[in-house]
Amino acid sequence: VPLILTQFLDRAVSLYGEKKAIICDNRVFTYQELNARVNCLSDGLRDLGVKKGDRVAYLAPNTVEMLEGFYGVFQLGAIMVPLNIRLKPDDYLFILNHSESKILFVDQELYHLISPIKDKLKHVEKIIVHYHDGNCGEIDYDKWLSSHSPSRFNREDINEQDVCSLLYTSGTTGNPKGVMLTHRNNYLHALSSMHHLRVSDEDVLVHVLPMFHVNGWGSPFYYTANGATQVCLRKASPEAIFNAIETQGVTIMHMAPTVLNSLLQYYEKNVPEFSQNIRVVIAGSAPPPAFVTRVEKELGWEFIQVYGMTESSPLSLVSTIRSHLKDLPLNEQYRMKAKAGIQMIGSEVKVLNELGTEVAHNGKEIGEVVVRSNGVMKGYWKNDEATMQAIQAGWLHTGDMANVDEFGNIEIVDRKKDVIISGGENISSIEVEGALYEHPSVLEAAVIAVPHEKWGETPHAYVVVREGKTVTEQELIQFSREKLAHFKAITGVTFVNELPKTASGKIQKVQLRNEYWESVG
Ligand code: ATP
Ligand code: MG
Repeated sequence: VPLILTQFLDRAVSLYGEKKAIICDNRVFTYQELNARVNCLSDGLRDLGVKKGDRVAYLAPNTVEMLEGFYGVFQLGAIMVPLNIRLKPDDYLFILNHSESKILFVDQELYHLISPIKDKLKHVEKIIVHYHDGNCGEIDYDKWLSSHSPSRFNREDINEQDVCSLLYTSGTTGNPKGVMLTHRNNYLHALSSMHHLRVSDEDVLVHVLPMFHVNGWGSPFYYTANGATQVCLRKASPEAIFNAIETQGVTIMHMAPTVLNSLLQYYEKNVPEFSQNIRVVIAGSAPPPAFVTRVEKELGWEFIQVYGMTESSPLSLVSTIRSHLKDLPLNEQYRMKAKAGIQMIGSEVKVLNELGTEVAHNGKEIGEVVVRSNGVMKGYWKNDEATMQAIQAGWLHTGDMANVDEFGNIEIVDRKKDVIISGGENISSIEVEGALYEHPSVLEAAVIAVPHEKWGETPHAYVVVREGKTVTEQELIQFSREKLAHFKAITGVTFVNELPKTASGKIQKVQLRNEYWESVG
């Protein structure tokens, strides 16, 4: 049987047809209803001339319209191009032309980002608007969808090696690159993830991560496959998340540490009533160790750390789960979860030093993480040179630095380009941030390298102070000297009201570096 993603929906429809599949804006859709909408969508796209291999772009927040788009597009063997909703019109122009997208679905709320570039789109033939307000002049999704057939769709012949999505990276180093993921990549990634996260038909997921980003993109497959319920939030504010937890019986959530931090904040201020159905919360992107402890202790939720990147579908490492750690003291459990963990089933992960050999498993030696897995992309769309650099002899070179302890647990130390080199020593910006997060006045912290006459570079912190608290630069410098080896201590602080973040909630250090250079002229 070819490993095609539509199988996941088929399975859910036959086993859980009457079950709630999606909850979106107070609307509830069973798996059968979802399937009918998916069929209408495929039928409509075929009418518009969409063929196997064509690109179909989506610019939408987390909605049922976005989620049904996955399977609607896949039934035709077409390729979904989800767009980050926080970009500028010119970025959309680049991606839509580069991907040669034929159809563009856009949420009414975001249409103003497309209208200025409409005339310059070279390949888009039709724009179809979700939540159409009746005025924009484009096709109204609801009317269009309901004019097509919900009955079984005669699918295209799809091969598991066919590309199903182009996910554009954030493009911190030039134009964004389109990561080509295949049905096989996503299918096997889903099998591995559902195993490690123990997803079942009793799960209720609230989508906190945006579905246009790889972490949000990959998860609907395994929740669908297991007949779980997925709650879509247009805006994942702490209030909306706690509300979903309370009213929908949410059991599991994936999120960025920055969002987790805002949940902790909200909880401390408001102590909202929430049901204790949550069994686990999952985060990647370098969660500070202090969060792990607070989530487990204060909120009582199990925390699981994962590691991955767009180019590998994304996940390849997962921290140990609670039931496997139950004999350890709590502090030891938290410490284990502050590491990215061990390779997931279906992934092979190694850490290589500069000579290309594996680092010693002593928790000290540092090298680059390389991954060979079922999830590793086919390559970058129309960019063979970048593909050849990224995948060498079958191994994806991640650009992330890590160490490995005696049990094989991998700890991500930093991105290669964020490592601070001070007096010949490598300093992990993540480690320094972790220390700052232990200070009671620090709400958020990001550490970058700044030039230093004597040491070459030293760590400099950008800090957001907690409401109602104060702290001085000197106090934080002193605090970091108490927590860290002296050469790792910060040498300066810039206090800010907020830190620049990506749509998936990551702190944009590139922007901080630019700001720093501007501030020193
Ligand atoms: P771009 O490649 O366009 O610059 P990006 O690398 O931020 O953007 P993603 O693919 O979303 O895009 O992120 C993957 C990166 O996130 C990893 O390479 C790693 O640097 C970081 N990351 C993910 N999980 C973890 C983790 N558990 N601990 C530390 N860092 C992590
Ligand atoms: Mg990257």
